[in-house]
Amino acid sequence: MNFGRTVSDTFCMYPWVNVHTNTDGRCKLCCNIYTEDYIQHEGRDAILGKDPWEAIWYGEHMVNVRHKMLAGEKLKECTRCYEHEEKGLESSRQWANKALPAPGIIEPFTKFDPTYLELRLGNVCNLKCAGCWSVSSDQLYKERKQILNQEQLPTWLYDQWKHEVDSVEKFDWSWYETEEFQYFIDSVVPNLKRLYLTGGEPTLINMNRVIIDKLIEANNHGCYVCWTTNLTNWPPEFYDKLDFFDASEVQMSIDGFEMTNTYCRYPTNWKSVEKNFEKAQRLPDQCTLKVYFVYQAWNIFDVRNVIEWISNNQRRRVDFVPIFLESPEWIHSCIWPKHVRDEVCESLNFATPYQGAIQSIINYTQNTDKYSKENIEKMSYYINMLDKYRKHKFKDIFPELDFIIQHEQSN
Ligand code: SF4
Repeated sequence: MNFGRTVSDTFCMYPWVNVHTNTDGRCKLCCNIYTEDYIQHEGRDAILGKDPWEAIWYGEHMVNVRHKMLAGEKLKECTRCYEHEEKGLESSRQWANKALPAPGIIEPFTKFDPTYLELRLGNVCNLKCAGCWSVSSDQLYKERKQILNQEQLPTWLYDQWKHEVDSVEKFDWSWYETEEFQYFIDSVVPNLKRLYLTGGEPTLINMNRVIIDKLIEANNHGCYVCWTTNLTNWPPEFYDKLDFFDASEVQMSIDGFEMTNTYCRYPTNWKSVEKNFEKAQRLPDQCTLKVYFVYQAWNIFDVRNVIEWISNNQRRRVDFVPIFLESPEWIHSCIWPKHVRDEVCESLNFATPYQGAIQSIINYTQNTDKYSKENIEKMSYYINMLDKYRKHKFKDIFPELDFIIQHEQSN
């Protein structure tokens, strides 16, 4: 049934089935909302594990959201979906209405537990990825706090880093270790249909393992268990459990081949990634494997290398999924002058089983222009700052890109 059409033009299945958390415990309707629009409780942002979960899920805010959706009213936080629909693209709303089963009666007040969880249990991570931020990596938090204390940063970078460092310091990061959080998990685990975990690095966060164990104790083998990992570690207490589930998915974030990945996802040990990629292919057949490739300024010429590396090391189906980095703008893939973007598109003219993914990268590169002298200056400043505080130098790993930056700055 297409609820998007038959119920109302703004109806979305997510507020009836899905709980989404930020790393700090604040909740949104779904992962498609990039604005600061959080579910409210007693006039402030609700925090799972701190506020009673029933008060969040059945509270005034969610009841209003459901009412509005049934009445065909638009919600500010869902603007991105409406924009996609106006452009003729399938929105997350339309996807959800096709893909997610309804909980039964669709009305705002009926009692029904969430059956989909998208959890980010804190910001513990072992990496400092260039496109990430302190709220998702405690390593980045430490590095950026140190830089803020030691450097006179330009406003554009100071404001961004100060905001994220302050955000980390504002919250209590034990929100998922409370009795309330345990009560929430115990309440929803028996009927859960999908559990998605990210972070931080989810395999470094013990509570994620506890939730998986609870699913097993509840004999809920039908739950689709899925996580996104940087593939630098392989804790058996996570991966050995996937045998139990009827279907699961491991999303492996790899943004480049060898040192490109190490620089973009610093300080990844490439040998660990290779070893764990091999282990991933020994996971049960019912576990879907995907490489998530975040397309950004420094890996524009590495798409083919990653795809060839996958093909050369592949013993079973592994999907390749490009993600287009939109923020921060100073490492956007389309920050380069047009002749470089054209060269990227030419370099992608090769035969591969991932033709659809390649075509989407070509289309994106051809139709997006973020080039400006100012953006190149910002990128150059950002690179210099990373190189000052880290052990690798950009020009040693990306001599070709370094040459373009130098050329742009000298003109
Ligand atoms: S309409 Fe879009 S943004 Fe709103 S809850 Fe649904 S998928 Fe999320």
